[in-house]
Amino acid sequence: MPVYTLPELPYDYAALEPVIDPQIVELHHDKHHAAYVKGANDTLEQLAEARDKESWGSINGLEKNLAFHLSGHILHSIYWHNMTGDGGGEPTAADGVGELADAITESFGSFAGLKAQLTKAAATTQGSGWGVLAYEPLSGRLIVEQVYDHQGNVGQGSTPILVFDAWEHAFYLQYKNQKVDFIEAMWAVVNWQDVARRHAAARERGDSLLLAP
Ligand code: MN
Repeated sequence: MPVYTLPELPYDYAALEPVIDPQIVELHHDKHHAAYVKGANDTLEQLAEARDKESWGSINGLEKNLAFHLSGHILHSIYWHNMTGDGGGEPTAADGVGELADAITESFGSFAGLKAQLTKAAATTQGSGWGVLAYEPLSGRLIVEQVYDHQGNVGQGSTPILVFDAWEHAFYLQYKNQKVDFIEAMWAVVNWQDVARRHAAARERGDSLLLAP
């Protein structure tokens, strides 16, 4: 019985047009995301086998594979829900996401400050990576992380609430080499209701994650 399963897309392949082409959404979810789910399950099996046999020759590679595939599965699971065909704009109190809007202003000075930093972080990834807006539980602030692959260059304990996939598979069929154009277009499909729910859940969990009782 596999531990991880590929979640259904919350919309059809064409729901994010014209920002993301249906063919990209289909391949990205059905092939790429599926491969990370399989990779995480396979790696857990291999680790169980290593424990059974007390055979630890591959432990470094297995732990790296677990971090890579599991983080890929988690980031993509967030990514699909972070987007909607009815998204975009700025989060505001009038839309019921005032706490998120306030947190963005407190942490980045303004929404424009967040937008500039997250756009730049995602668009300048070297090789494969992500731009991530995360809740950092020690300070209670929001931070931007520039993630290498799926799992590198992140601070422990932070929770991703808005993720921009900057791997070539996320845009190349449509945007070719213009990664910055893709990242800038992404803002038009951000589902702020979903981001606000993730922010609220991370704040609740953060109180018990690292702080003394
Ligand atoms: Mn991807």
